[in-house]
Amino acid sequence: MSRHTKIVATLGPASSDPATLEALIRAGVDVVRLNLSHGKAQDHIDRAALVREISARVGRIVGILADLQGPKIRIGKFEAGKITLERGGRFILDAACELGNAERVGLDYRDLLRDVGPGSVLLLDDGRIVLDVERVSGSEIHTVVRHGGELSNNKGINRQGGGLSAPALTPKDMEDIRTAAAIGVDYLAVSFPKSAADMYMARQLMRAAGGKALTIAKIERVEAVAALDEILDAADGVMVARGDLAVEVGDAAVPALQKKMIRLARSKNKLAITATQMMESMIQAPTPTRAEVSDVANAVLDGTDAVMLSAETASGKYPVETVESMARICLEAEKSAEITLDRDFLERTFTRIDQTIAMAALFAAHHLEVKAIAALTQSGSTALWMSRLNCGVPVYALTPDPLAQARMSLYREVRPLLMPQEGRDRDQLLQDAETLLIQKGIVEPGDLIVFTIGEPIGFSGGTNTMKIVRVGGAS
Ligand code: PGA
Ligand code: MN
Repeated sequence: MSRHTKIVATLGPASSDPATLEALIRAGVDVVRLNLSHGKAQDHIDRAALVREISARVGRIVGILADLQGPKIRIGKFEAGKITLERGGRFILDAACELGNAERVGLDYRDLLRDVGPGSVLLLDDGRIVLDVERVSGSEIHTVVRHGGELSNNKGINRQGGGLSAPALTPKDMEDIRTAAAIGVDYLAVSFPKSAADMYMARQLMRAAGGKALTIAKIERVEAVAALDEILDAADGVMVARGDLAVEVGDAAVPALQKKMIRLARSKNKLAITATQMMESMIQAPTPTRAEVSDVANAVLDGTDAVMLSAETASGKYPVETVESMARICLEAEKSAEITLDRDFLERTFTRIDQTIAMAALFAAHHLEVKAIAALTQSGSTALWMSRLNCGVPVYALTPDPLAQARMSLYREVRPLLMPQEGRDRDQLLQDAETLLIQKGIVEPGDLIVFTIGEPIGFSGGTNTMKIVRVGGAS
């Protein structure tokens, strides 16, 4: 049985040597994430080249996602590398401070002075440290420590409730978009977008740099939650970026938001990635906690396209074991996922012929005992539509375009296969497709396949035909 939910793994020092990377890909990584918050451009270029070489050799399709740093606000460094804050003590964030100590620390974003005032709550290091702002004077933000603990160099700062004015794309992001375009990444994740305009801008910069990447909006700001609808319309997908999101909206609000985001994304024919701390304890341990197992399984049941690993694979001790565990949890959760066409299937109306054929194929596959749906597609959009509804039948997307194939690495339930189309007519293509599915061991004589295809051959958006075939010709 093969897994429907895709796995995104962040690369880092723990996963960049060829042997580990190969083991990760063999263990089931579908998309690698290049985290542009860390490392130099050349590190990412080298990793991407290595991923392509290994995935070609291993024969697995692996997409590449570049994740921009965005306007993450950070404290500066400490003389001693770190300090300990005591509850009730005072602490100053000082934009003029060079090297921090127990009393104050520097700040890389001057506008924070304008954005906060008495009563603001600042969360440092993903909310582990909480500071109440008393007053702002000159370059200094004076705070009282509500939750103390150890604080080390360059930790992130969020403001509870959002409201920071930083634009989503920094000069570094713009440079990184050029690097990502040069690498030819399949996906570009935009950090901290506040509006649809941020997503349009990222896409425009990507196109201007010659890249074709699809865009993923990381929902991690209060403003983005409010503008979810328009952001989804402007992007190709969302990431439930639970790390920063939890800090801004409060951790307890995140589970319901996750369900809402995934549901909305699917209803708009967009993608969803669920991210952050999914297997956090496996950074240090070879097995996950019960809570982590449930978390991954619940994301699968929510209908996410992919579950994501961050430090677990970037810097953890057990990157390969983590992917293996995650794959196992997804598979089991998928078994129990209700295989019923989403109810809104019947309520949806379609205006496009290709989309209507995609839905008709799902309906047919759901009612007949069908082994596979095989969509002959140029861009992959037929497969995307099919995968937005739970039909329980695997969707094989047969495309002549390697770019479309790589993009589909993220689509839940979709297995992209490369199949040339040039110079073939409809009947020859359907025969080729059947032969390919037999060769791959996907179907055998007697099985039913639902095909979709567009005539004339070779045009994007032209799907207009469905054919149900019994393998081997018997009926
Ligand atoms: P990050 O994004 O890891 O780049 O911060 C994910 C998140 O905030 O959850
Ligand atoms: Mn984040």
